[in-house]
Amino acid sequence: SKKKVVVQKDHCNVGTIGHIDHGKTTLTSAITAVQAKKGKATFVPFDKIDQAPQERLRGITINTAHVGYSTDKRHYAHTDCPGHMDFIKNMIAGTSQMDAAIVIVAATDGQMPQTREHLMLAKQIGVEKIIVFVNKCDIVDPEVLELVELEMRELLDKYGYDSENTPFVFGSALLALKGDTESEYGEACIHRLMDTLDEYIETPQRDLKAPFFLPLDSSVPVPNRGTVMIGTLKRGVMKKGQEAELLGFDKRIKTAITGMQVFRKDVTECQAGENVGVLARGIKKEQVEKGMVLAAYKSVTLHNRFEATMYLLSEEEHGRKKALPRCYTQMLYSDTWSMSCRLDLLEDMQILMPGERASVHGTLLFEMALTVGLSFSIREGVTTIATGKITKLLP
Ligand code: GDP
Ligand code: MG
Repeated sequence: SKKKVVVQKDHCNVGTIGHIDHGKTTLTSAITAVQAKKGKATFVPFDKIDQAPQERLRGITINTAHVGYSTDKRHYAHTDCPGHMDFIKNMIAGTSQMDAAIVIVAATDGQMPQTREHLMLAKQIGVEKIIVFVNKCDIVDPEVLELVELEMRELLDKYGYDSENTPFVFGSALLALKGDTESEYGEACIHRLMDTLDEYIETPQRDLKAPFFLPLDSSVPVPNRGTVMIGTLKRGVMKKGQEAELLGFDKRIKTAITGMQVFRKDVTECQAGENVGVLARGIKKEQVEKGMVLAAYKSVTLHNRFEATMYLLSEEEHGRKKALPRCYTQMLYSDTWSMSCRLDLLEDMQILMPGERASVHGTLLFEMALTVGLSFSIREGVTTIATGKITKLLP
């Protein structure tokens, strides 16, 4: 009876995005207020969310607020950031990938530069579904709402979203937060938003269903038994006897799982999130390098070229003082490895200014088991100067 039974409550990661002052934080607080009345959240006041604590991720500081709430269907973890650059950094380097984003657009302004930037970035990093919340409906003429919707659908189309089927919720975060039960834009809009989230966003396939993927942290030779490879299983379930591949640094070695240990105990199976030591058939100490990946056979391809979205830290964030040139070679740091990487700015950009974001083309010295969504940082010596996320693998 070594097998663990893990009851996983359906869970979904969401976040508010959109232009400053359009009502993201008010909406986040309003959701907790309305769901709290149903016993499905703890109310989090506006100020508490707006004073989001700092998080440090790979040498980058981000202000992010995390709140949680439930519906009858499932649990939601919701992220809101105070500043525009915090949103950008969180989307690129943040710990949890958003399964869906709530784009807030104030009916008073319509779409604005940050609405567009966040939406474009969401698409790049693989947020496949969007819900539009048209806010501040309490203070505009109804005709305005149609125009805002029309223009938002055009924008969704432009960035590759399903503009026809993307749901729109019209409301007033402020009225909802104040507990208004009279207006259709008051608490009622939060009920509509929750129903829309439940219906339009499918519960994401959790990591356990994916082929197993184990980035290696270290390896230890064991006399007469081979080499134990150690790491934390990132995705999937790994089983004894399964065919596998050891990949990275231009190498690709076929093998099979012959033994596994979790907490120094032999197991026949282990799952995503667990720290595991693995023995694999025929693998010698010299073949294993930190940064290689042990993956289900033929589930992963090797790449040394990729596209990424990258944020260059500003001088105030202790980043670079000077702009990056169009072509630049520096050390790239990922979860378990680092390597020299050439970065070329895309989209005819000539330089990248500190505090700005760009799409880049990366070329690594060796082929690695890269994945879309992998976050990395760029360092000059000990100084983190940029954070990035792989958006596309290139052949
Ligand atoms: P954020 O920068 O997107 O997080 O925007 P905030 O939530 O901080 O809201 C910006 C301002 O808009 C605040 O003064 C809010 O009180 C106000 N606001 C937010 N939602 C509404 C709304 O539905 N109606 C009105 N009239 N004002 C709102
Ligand atoms: Mg805010």
